[in-house]
Amino acid sequence: MFPVDKFQDTRTPFYYYDTQLLRETLKTINEESGKHANYHVHYAVKANANQKILHIISQYGLGADCVSGGEIKAALEAGFPVDSIVYAGVGKSDWEIELGLQNDIACFNVESIAELEVINDLAQKHGKKARVAFRINPNIGAHTHANITTGLAENKFGIAMQDMDKVIDEAQTMANVEVIGLHFHIGSQILDMGDFKALCNRINDLQSQLAKRNVFVQNINVGGGLGVSYDNPDREPIPDFKDYFNTYATHLRLRNDQQLHFELGRSVVAQCGSLITRLLYVKQGSYKQFAIVDAGMTDLIRPALYQALHKIQNISSDEPNETYDVVGPICESSDVFAKAIDLNRCHRGDLLAIRSAGAYGEIMASGYNCRPLPEGYISEEFR
Ligand SMILES: *Cc1c(COP(=O)(O)O)cnc(C)c1O
Repeated sequence: MFPVDKFQDTRTPFYYYDTQLLRETLKTINEESGKHANYHVHYAVKANANQKILHIISQYGLGADCVSGGEIKAALEAGFPVDSIVYAGVGKSDWEIELGLQNDIACFNVESIAELEVINDLAQKHGKKARVAFRINPNIGAHTHANITTGLAENKFGIAMQDMDKVIDEAQTMANVEVIGLHFHIGSQILDMGDFKALCNRINDLQSQLAKRNVFVQNINVGGGLGVSYDNPDREPIPDFKDYFNTYATHLRLRNDQQLHFELGRSVVAQCGSLITRLLYVKQGSYKQFAIVDAGMTDLIRPALYQALHKIQNISSDEPNETYDVVGPICESSDVFAKAIDLNRCHRGDLLAIRSAGAYGEIMASGYNCRPLPEGYISEEFR
C-alpha cells in the first residue's frame, strides 16, 4: 500500500497522506450526515492544517471549525466559504476577533462573559453584528485520555451550565451581538457512543430549561471527538460515522427547524496519514534491542504527550519478526514511539511507517533540538 520505491529519494522523516482514503472518508461523512436533515459538518482545522489536505476537504463541502486567527486564514486560503467558518477558543486575541468580524464568519463560539463584552465592543467599533453561540461546559466526562477531556467542570473550556441563562440575558442587552446557538465539545478520541448520548441528554435538559423562558436558538453545535482505531487502521480505516450520526439522531431532540452542527477533526484525517521514518541504527541494549529512527517526538508528539500507541510497520523488510523498542533521536526519555513491539527484522536504512498519524501529527511538530519541520506529501506526489 506504500510506494516504498518512490520514497527512496525523499528526505525523511516525512508525512505521507493517502488521499484516496481521505476522499473515501469524506464521501462516507457526506453520505451518512446527509441522511439526516439539518446536519452540517465542519472540519476541525487544528487536526491537520496542511494546505493540500485542507483543499481536498473544502472540495467536499465541509465547513471549517477554527481555534485561532491563523486557522481562519488557513481555512480561507484553502477555499472554505467564509459563511461556513466557526471560531472557538478560550483566549481569543483582539486581532483574531477583528479578523473574524472583518470576514463575517458564521459564528463565534464564546467561552466567557468577558469575551462576549470584547466581541460586542469590537463589533461596534467596526460597525458589525457578531453572530455568537455560547460554548457551555456540560460537565460530562469522556472515556478518553485526561489531557483530551474538555467537558468537565474542572476544565478551562466553556461557560458553566448554571451561568447559561445569565449570559444569554446579558447578550440580549448588547447591540452588536446576536445569539444564534449553543456549542459543546466534550473531548477527543471518544469511541464509547454512551458519552455522546450523555451529551445529548444534557442538551435536551438545557433546551427544556431555555424553552421555559421562551428562549430558542437556531443552532446546536455538538463539537467533535469521534475516535479512530489506532490498533487496527487496516481493519477500520473509516470510523463508524453511521453509528455516530445515528446516536445524535436517536438521542438529541431538536426543535422545529433547528440546525445541528458537528466539528470533526481526528476522525476525518487520522487514518489517511503515516509518518515515514528511516531506521538509523539497531542497538542491542542489555536486555532488549532498540530500533533508532530519524523521526522523534518533534515530528509526532502524541506518544510522548498522550501515551498514544500508533501501529508501526517496517515497510522495507519481510524478514521474520523480532522485538524492538522504537525510539527517536531527541534528548528526552519520553521520545519513544513504542516498546517491545514486533517488526520485520530491521536493518539500517529501512523505512518504517508510523500509522494513523494524519491527525495532530504534522501540525504539532516543533523545532526542538533545532530540527527541521517534517514535510507533508500527498499520494499524488509519488505517482
Ligand atoms: C479539537 C476540537 C474539535 C475536534 O476534535 P476531534 O476530536 O479532533 O474531532 C472540535 N471542536 C473544538 C471546539 C475543538 O477544540
